[in-house]
Amino acid sequence: MTPTSHTLYPSSSALGEGSSESREEGVWTQEIANASPALRVVNLTKRFGGLAAVDNLNLTVRRGATHCIIGPNGAGKSTFFDLVTNVQPTTAGDVYFFGERINGLPPYRCSGLGIARKFQAPTLFPELTAAENLFLGKVGHLSWNRLLRTREIPAADEEVTGLLDRLRLAEQGGTRAAELSHGQQQWLEIGVALMARPRLLLLDEPTAGMSPRETEATAELLRELTGGTTTVIVEHDLAFVRRIADIITVMHRGQAVAEGSPDEIAQNALVRDVYLGRKSL
Ligand code: ADP
Ligand code: MG
Repeated sequence: MTPTSHTLYPSSSALGEGSSESREEGVWTQEIANASPALRVVNLTKRFGGLAAVDNLNLTVRRGATHCIIGPNGAGKSTFFDLVTNVQPTTAGDVYFFGERINGLPPYRCSGLGIARKFQAPTLFPELTAAENLFLGKVGHLSWNRLLRTREIPAADEEVTGLLDRLRLAEQGGTRAAELSHGQQQWLEIGVALMARPRLLLLDEPTAGMSPRETEATAELLRELTGGTTTVIVEHDLAFVRRIADIITVMHRGQAVAEGSPDEIAQNALVRDVYLGRKSL
């Protein structure tokens, strides 16, 4: 089941009244601001009939950044990921990955280049254990045979056990994915994506359907895990992304309407209006 119920807008308190809680990481440093682009989209557009789900979007994700994209439901966030990974063909515009134009490359080639994506809907193998799912993330989903024939035991693989630990799943290595809680499944999926050592990690609503405690743990976990991996996180929850983002882009109706540091975005009057529903742009 895909958890889809969430509030469209965060509460006004989530936006903070100019508060700037200290974040050890997630600071938009000059270093990252000057880093070369990992991902750049130029005039990117996707039309579904008369609807422009992504509408002339220009956006640059810097190498090493945790770049969050927020916006209300229907803003075009997931479609943006579809275009970057070529799950859907673009209507117009270009996508550059580390300087290389990747429009039209089949999705498996995108993943071969080092783009890993966690979808909104779960993609784990429910009958396999947490350790086995991670192991497949490492050797690739096309390597089922290797898992079946292998003498390597996923639960004994150092990388697997190390990551299980960091995912707070040390005790669950032998548990079937289907038996994990919703939050644990989401963390395991992030782990599967990371096992491929991607150059770009795309996470679509990693906290969807989570309890406040799980959401809290996810923010911590992402800060610990993503490290130097360039990560784009799509979310609707501004309070959550403020805690982990180096930079935030606000999408609305397929366009980027604001971009800045978490504090800048939280204090941006236009963003507040969009999020509080006072203005529909
Ligand atoms: P978000 O992820 O920000 O909630 P989406 O990218 O899923 O938004 O959707 C953006 C808009 O495009 C929505 O109005 C949605 O209904 C529409 N849309 C998305 N996918 C399709 C599709 N395959 N066919 C038609 N319309 C679509
Ligand atoms: Mg979406």
